[in-house]
Amino acid sequence: MKRRAFVQSTIGAIAAAYIPTSFARVPAELRAISRTGKEVVLLRAEIQEFASSLRLALLLPTSPRYDETRKIWNGAWDHKRPALIAQCLDVSDVISAVNFARSHDLLVAVRGGGHSISGKSVCDGGIVIDTSPMKTVLVDPAARKATVEPGVLLGSLDREAQAYGLVCPSGVVSHTGAAGLTLGGGIGILMRKFGLTIDNLLSVDIVTADGVLRHASAEQNPDLYWGVRGGGGNFGVVTKFEYQLHPFGPNIVTGAMLYHPDQAKDMFNRFFEISENADNQLHMFSGMLTKESGEAVVMMGYSFSGQVDQAESVIKPYRNMGKPIAEYVGPINFVKQQSRADAHNNHGRSYYIKGRHVNDYDPDMTDEILERWIHDPRRTNTMRIVRFGGAVAQVDNDATAWPHRNAMWDLEVGASWEDADHSKEFVNWGREYWKALDPYTAENFYVNELMDESQDKVAISYQGNYPRLVELKNKYDPLNLFQLNANIKPSV
Ligand SMILES: Cc1cc2nc3c(=O)[nH]c(=O)nc-3n(C[C@H](O)[C@H](O)[C@H](O)COP(=O)(O)OP(=O)(O)OC[C@H]3O[C@@H](n4cnc5c(N)ncnc54)[C@H](O)[C@@H]3O)c2cc1C
Repeated sequence: MKRRAFVQSTIGAIAAAYIPTSFARVPAELRAISRTGKEVVLLRAEIQEFASSLRLALLLPTSPRYDETRKIWNGAWDHKRPALIAQCLDVSDVISAVNFARSHDLLVAVRGGGHSISGKSVCDGGIVIDTSPMKTVLVDPAARKATVEPGVLLGSLDREAQAYGLVCPSGVVSHTGAAGLTLGGGIGILMRKFGLTIDNLLSVDIVTADGVLRHASAEQNPDLYWGVRGGGGNFGVVTKFEYQLHPFGPNIVTGAMLYHPDQAKDMFNRFFEISENADNQLHMFSGMLTKESGEAVVMMGYSFSGQVDQAESVIKPYRNMGKPIAEYVGPINFVKQQSRADAHNNHGRSYYIKGRHVNDYDPDMTDEILERWIHDPRRTNTMRIVRFGGAVAQVDNDATAWPHRNAMWDLEVGASWEDADHSKEFVNWGREYWKALDPYTAENFYVNELMDESQDKVAISYQGNYPRLVELKNKYDPLNLFQLNANIKPSV
């Protein structure tokens, strides 16, 4: 079969698997929700015309696969029911979906990998523009670049880049989406060496609210290029990311020491002290886990991204700390390392997790964390701290939209649970936890760790970059079509 014919028949087969069985399922009128919360009535002919403009599929609540498709990683949002899910396979699908949403004034959620902890990539009554079927990664080994579609998960990016001995710094759980992670910033174990994911983002193709496909890079639309590097999904739907890659791997040296909880205070104090001036090739993190028995375990972890044979000398001082109850350290294949935390972050459980920066460490914060770390067999508590610095801090605060270059540490605290009936109780527990931590944490937070912060807090968190982000929003999305995110409100 000729290549073109093969490509077409493959696409045909994929599309056939996605298309709703029949337009007869489309009701004469479909009630949806507008951008401003009003009811919008969509007529059958309008829906059918939109559906036929899509290369992939339009799912309605009556479509097969609607229920499985609407759900995202965090099961806490399983109750959300969009009126329409536009599954996109290419740029023209995305343009159709943006134009349809704008012309009917629909509430819009945009999905890449579906890992929005706060549930922003699904909505009630509006339209989901679902880019998750767009999954191509292309690596150009000579130029050390990767072009990545918005449905790509981190594991695929790592695997494809590592096939050529290259890497793009990103996050730590391989089933997280590259799209949302990149647009928010992208923190991970290589950030102190290579910077945030956005520091390695060369360009994007993006469909803005007017339905126009734009290329944003240092040369073309540089204002938009500035905004997408940390401004989240505020400016449009990204259809392609282009990243700079770096030679790396195949192994990375990682280690973790586990401690009894009675050493927790001492270990956290030491973590804050020693991580402050750690080697730039050393990623340090600390945290707490709960074993199945209910017993807490304190963890000190490190990943060394320099030459494997130099690791021991850099890591040695950390191995001498306290009295670990268990320790493992050694080289591991990088791609494997990147999926080690996958099972602890499985899909479908309900999660309440949020993060804040810590700039001045006060040991009383550790007392609060420990006091509230109460075991409940129905709930799995989670907490981790990572050190920023290194290459992250070598970029000016206003060089990209990400304004946290001087932040010292990132603290995440929360929990997950199986049974959604407990959600109210455990979300309240999480909120009380964070109320207690409030005096010890900065006002700023990483937008990808947003949970329930108000609009005021989002504006404060963007600090001096907020006015410039508002200008961009006025230019590219004056109606605030893309508002389900850490929202930058237009002022026009
Ligand atoms: C298990 C887990 C591990 C994580 N680990 C890390 C980590 O190591 N480092 C880190 O930095 N973050 C991490 N995060 C946070 C993560 O970066 C965010 O949740 C991010 O939004 C996920 O991106 P996604 O594409 O999967 O999400 P989605 O839920 O698909 O999207 C989230 C938001 O991104 C925007 N968006 C998505 N796709 C597009 C698109 N094509 N165009 C425009 N906007 C779009 C939308 O505003 C959307 O609401 C983790 C999250 C989880 C759940």
